[in-house]
Amino acid sequence: MSQHSAAIHYTLDVSSLAGHILGVVLHIDLPSSEGHVLSLPAWIPGSYMIRDFAKNIVQIHAEDEQGVQLTLRKNDKQTWQLPPTSGPIKVHYRIYAFDLSVRSAYVFDDFAFFNGTSTFLAVEEHRNQPCGITLMKPKQAQCSNWRVATTLPVANNTLHHDFGDYLAADYNELIDHPILLGEYDIVPFDVVTPLNRTPLEKGMPPAHTCHFELILAGGHRSDTQRIAKDLRALCAHHFALFNDVPPIDRYLFITMLTGRDFGGLEHMSSTALLYSRDDLPSIAQADHMPDGYRTFLSLCSHEFLHTWHVKRTRPAVLKSSTLAEEAYTPQLWIYEGFTSYYDDMSLARSQVTDVSSYLEVLGQTLTRLERNIGRHKQTVTESSFDAWTKFYQQDASAINNIVSYYVKGAVIALCLDLQIRLTSQHKRSLDDVMRYLWQHHGKIDVGTPDDIIQQIILVEFELPLQSFMHDALYTNKDLPVQSLLETFGVSLQRRPRVDANDIGGKPATRTRPNHFGAAYKAADTGVIITQVSENTPAFHAGLQVGDQLISLNDWQLTNTNLLDIYDHFPESSDLVMFVLRHQRLKQLTLTINQALHDTIFLTVNDEQKLLKWLSNKQK
Ligand code: ZN
Repeated sequence: MSQHSAAIHYTLDVSSLAGHILGVVLHIDLPSSEGHVLSLPAWIPGSYMIRDFAKNIVQIHAEDEQGVQLTLRKNDKQTWQLPPTSGPIKVHYRIYAFDLSVRSAYVFDDFAFFNGTSTFLAVEEHRNQPCGITLMKPKQAQCSNWRVATTLPVANNTLHHDFGDYLAADYNELIDHPILLGEYDIVPFDVVTPLNRTPLEKGMPPAHTCHFELILAGGHRSDTQRIAKDLRALCAHHFALFNDVPPIDRYLFITMLTGRDFGGLEHMSSTALLYSRDDLPSIAQADHMPDGYRTFLSLCSHEFLHTWHVKRTRPAVLKSSTLAEEAYTPQLWIYEGFTSYYDDMSLARSQVTDVSSYLEVLGQTLTRLERNIGRHKQTVTESSFDAWTKFYQQDASAINNIVSYYVKGAVIALCLDLQIRLTSQHKRSLDDVMRYLWQHHGKIDVGTPDDIIQQIILVEFELPLQSFMHDALYTNKDLPVQSLLETFGVSLQRRPRVDANDIGGKPATRTRPNHFGAAYKAADTGVIITQVSENTPAFHAGLQVGDQLISLNDWQLTNTNLLDIYDHFPESSDLVMFVLRHQRLKQLTLTINQALHDTIFLTVNDEQKLLKWLSNKQK
């Protein structure tokens, strides 16, 4: 008999902080006449790229109960074959954990963060068996105040935040609760649903309390009460959106704070976040909403919405994948696009920000799509399908050749929301589509077919949006955003970009007469070209990514003066540029075009019409 309650049990230890090593002992107490096969996933749900996590297993060996070494044969990059066995087996392995991201594992002297997909070898054939886990407290002196932040279910009297025993119902559950070991602050808050209900209202389901904890690791100086208040309003918005008993009663925002990193990944009842500590609000900023904090709230809003939308409501192919190879689906625009629409919009609807702040962010989203020339070459469903090799493996040509299913998906969601409101005489909205998806798919664990949105809108809701849906999903035509926004009292305005940092959303502070068409960064002399947009003056002149551009008509360029010098010349004039390319000096001729109006901002021209879309009340 094994001393563990589950026949598959992992004991995990932080073996070395300086060496960034996690040590795992996997006990298997199941006989196998063929020999067990062990494997590690190639990718992590929510991040659609082959990452080959098994490459970080740096040592592995197996032994039987008596300590006799067993032959462990490697079948391929991520699977191992054990010999036939009748008794318990121990597999010892060490993982190099030094990827500072939400997708993998990272060990250093402040904390150790890891996903199950990087850490726990699956015992094939027994993926449905319960998995026990023992988390060992690191012995190093600097870890004396470390605790455990995870939503893995506790076992054997272990308390939340303690080292000790945890138990997952099966392998899929085991890998969907990331774990953070370290010193951290806990910012707790509760959300009771349904909201505004007196406890004794007859015939209604009992009130449900969800306990949230914002975990802040890495050190910070932020106004935690303000963050808790804002997050509470956002979480309450999402509960009200789905209008049902929530699928969770405990949820963690596991946040790693560093100098300047960014990331978020959704899980069953938690999210892992990576963020810049300086972008959290300080007490001194009480009445101000800094852009970086607004983006943090939007990120939290996004990941929490995924608790329903992609973690539970999801395409069948994502539900059934063993993560050994790609799981192709044309539906990511539904799951990332709708979520990207609601993440920002819910900030306004929950009154965490005001409507003008939301319209600024929406203007930035529309600007990103407008500048994304690839929207005329790839459809949003193609972009979803090819996420593995295109969206997740972008090079400098991406802006010209692919479209983001996040950005275009969000703009389709916006158009759909407005179209549904208009064609249903304001009886329905995209909220109803979200509820339908939850009730008919997520809640009962039925995968969504590829045409699910058409089925809901055209068949279930009987709305005449066939040609809109067709054009939005299967063609490269531009979306009717401008006319739809106009119907809801919002004017879409276009202007030239002011400088390299101009991301739109606001009126211009100055005007620029000329269009250049390339992005660049500072160099010791001149600038380095980082991106060239198709059919622009820079493109026609033959500028290419990597060129060191040093002069325009004899004027030496810098990162800060390039556009000022450029705008000094009249439209249609020819300029001589010198570039250094592969250690040779080249002369190029550039013909100036007038500025492109590719920067968007929104203004309100009818408050009453706007309220039909962005009122704080959800129907
Ligand atoms: Zn997402």
